[in-house]
Amino acid sequence: MATPENKLAFDDGWQYSPAPESTDHVRIKKKYDLFIGGDFVKPEKGRYFDTINPATEEVISRVALAADADVDKAVKAARKAYPGWSRMKAAERGKYIYRIARILQERSREFAAIESLDGGKPIRESRDVDVPLAAAHFFYYAGWADKLEYAFPGRNVKPLGVAGQIIPWNFPLLMAAWKIAPALACGNTVVIKPAETTPLTAMKLAEVIADAGLPPGVVNIITGAGETGAAIVNHPGVDKIAFTGSTSVGRIIQKALAGTRKHYTLELGGKAANIIFADAAIDQAVEGIVNGIFFNQGHVCCAGSRLFVQESVADRVIQKLKDRMETLIVGDPLDKNTDIGAINSQEQLATIRSYLKVGQDEGGEMFQSSCRIPKKGYWCRPTIFTGVSQSNRVVQEEIFGPVLAIQTFRTYNEAISKANNTPYGLSGGIWTDKGSKIFKMTQSVRAGVVWANTFNKFDPTSPFGGYKESGVGREGGLHGLDAYLKLEA
Ligand code: ADP
Repeated sequence: MATPENKLAFDDGWQYSPAPESTDHVRIKKKYDLFIGGDFVKPEKGRYFDTINPATEEVISRVALAADADVDKAVKAARKAYPGWSRMKAAERGKYIYRIARILQERSREFAAIESLDGGKPIRESRDVDVPLAAAHFFYYAGWADKLEYAFPGRNVKPLGVAGQIIPWNFPLLMAAWKIAPALACGNTVVIKPAETTPLTAMKLAEVIADAGLPPGVVNIITGAGETGAAIVNHPGVDKIAFTGSTSVGRIIQKALAGTRKHYTLELGGKAANIIFADAAIDQAVEGIVNGIFFNQGHVCCAGSRLFVQESVADRVIQKLKDRMETLIVGDPLDKNTDIGAINSQEQLATIRSYLKVGQDEGGEMFQSSCRIPKKGYWCRPTIFTGVSQSNRVVQEEIFGPVLAIQTFRTYNEAISKANNTPYGLSGGIWTDKGSKIFKMTQSVRAGVVWANTFNKFDPTSPFGGYKESGVGREGGLHGLDAYLKLEA
């Protein structure tokens, strides 16, 4: 980990002493066991794997690798806890969830630092976005716990049972909050698995859950990779699967669940259109483009990864974007000045690099900012492609990195047809001065969320989810409760 005395070496020999967020308050154990039935227990087969800091390639900690027998143990613990938790007075259930929210707030600095260490995202984002939003989700759903019959008037509401939840590496704590909070508020118990490259904030959350005094087995947190996830999906004692991750794994899960009685929600990939009309406030739109694609290194399923600019302003917008890209700081995620942190893993960096090659091979013109990048760790300079068309792979496929494909349009209809020419439908953005255009556009872009004159804004009250290959079901808001309840007439 970089300390103020450390010099950070860059690829061109330049050295720099970062001023990182202090990590004195951060407590990370050398080894993490599984959190099952309210205790930290060793994995049955005694296997552990490394979790590394993608900015330094150093091992931060070792984490248990859960096998089928551990998944079984976790599901049994959740089943055992279910009758007590689901029949508990709803207001009491709410109190536990409020307690989790408050402890998260109290320890927010520690959570933010660990999220940045383990996942590579800039501390400014984990501090100002991930952790506060995670707490906000627990607060929001805590409030619903004793008001469910008002959420669905005239319906008889019942929890589903045990929820198996599998989350990705791009927003580890936030995705855990998105999934655990509504499940608990509705009276379900939980078995959750973080992604293999970012398990640490979930294990910290296990400590918070233990400190909040939740009855044993109400939340079980197990670590492992795809096989562990598959064991959760296939376990007969699970009543609902909530998955966020790639469309390819989502397909495998949907196939595995077909014909079973299990409920499911899948939040998958995206390739959002960010559409800039000539009448937009151009400087704000450029900030929106930057936020849309470079936030969290572009590891965002709803990232604005396809830019459509109206032809009359295209040159101006692209020049301003290039100028702005040159000011972005890529580097130490713990440095408060950093705009773009480390790519989450070596594997993801290889994927992104393969797309940079594909984009150029297909005839796209690539521009990258000329910023320095550290010698060690996984980095990608902010990148844009111009001269690409609808059929190019960098336009059609999700890259999940700081790579933007830019096209132009002349008319409103052309913008809509290009925006909707994608297998995905998770999000979209529109920049214009005209309210009427916003209303028309939000009806026409086939996506779960459409932002107007902003991008990547999240709120627990707002449902989130996709059309087409971006998934099934909604999380957040009232819809997020629906996904964890049986609603009877
Ligand atoms: P990405 O491709 O972005 O790395 P994945 O979809 O592979 O994302 O991973 C998202 C989550 O799904 C992770 O927690 C991962 O361990 C888990 N996972 C991967 N493969 C499977 C599978 N076959 N069944 C269930 N979960 C899986």
